[in-house]
Amino acid sequence: QAPTSYYYTMPEEARLLIRKRNRHANKGTFGHALLLAGSYGKVGAAVLAAKACLRSGVGLLTVQTPLCGYSVIQTAVPEAMCLPDTHPYVLTGHTEVDNLPPNNYAAIGIGPGIGKAPETLAMLRDILTTIRKPMVIDADALNLLAANRDLLGLLPERSILTPHPKEFERLTQRWQNDYDKLEILQDFARRFRIVVVLKGAHTAIATPEGDIHFNSTGNPGLSTGGTGDVLTGVLTALLAQGYDPVEAAVLGVFSHGLAGDHAADARGQIGMVASDVIDSLRWEN
Ligand code: AMP
Ligand code: MG
Repeated sequence: QAPTSYYYTMPEEARLLIRKRNRHANKGTFGHALLLAGSYGKVGAAVLAAKACLRSGVGLLTVQTPLCGYSVIQTAVPEAMCLPDTHPYVLTGHTEVDNLPPNNYAAIGIGPGIGKAPETLAMLRDILTTIRKPMVIDADALNLLAANRDLLGLLPERSILTPHPKEFERLTQRWQNDYDKLEILQDFARRFRIVVVLKGAHTAIATPEGDIHFNSTGNPGLSTGGTGDVLTGVLTALLAQGYDPVEAAVLGVFSHGLAGDHAADARGQIGMVASDVIDSLRWEN
């Protein structure tokens, strides 16, 4: 096995990853993303992920939510299209509206606020058996994977998983301490050929090759509900624009943390909320 390389993302490197927009570009150039997010009582997670996705350069965005989220999305995020699920409260993947089959989207992000209903598990299984390109998997989608471990083998290669420490513990089923955490992280990313973003004060990104990138931005003001959903939107937008998954993870995590730092400058760590992080996103090279 190749030895591990450790990296620490510096501002200059992150900036270099940001692509310039071609003068002759159109929205088709930047991909059409699909976010599968929300359930009764957690439609806000879908709103945050959708807004962050749009603030990160995606060309077009469709949000699939349960029926109860339909007018919420249409009102809160007019830039996004909304695909209402047939189910009133949870995602099933079934819709009565004509739409692109999931495989036609440039990228898919799944998880924020979806809950763990059996119908939603069935949808996740369906998505994982039909989609062969890298996707972003977060929150309850990770918890569903942890509870249905046969699904781990279906993950499209180079997909990005974004667990916080508790979700990571459930996924790996191994006792976590600071001594062997990195090794467990690395093994997990290598074994399933995926990119794993272990979130926290020093977010560590493990690549399918077993390398580790540590992030240098962010602050404890990010320790508040919804900031993880924002990251999922950011990463989905970068995949839709054709960034390589490792580059997307490194750049997305850096920019999300930087936005958190700008939000803390404006509002203070205590007063800032996830929406401030979205408003503070900036993509400049
Ligand atoms: P989640 O737990 O899914 O809502 O995600 C929380 C987000 O906030 C992740 O991107 C974390 O890296 C970030 N975050 C939480 N606490 C801190 C902290 N103390 N310092 C820096 N980033 C943090
Ligand atoms: Mg989360």
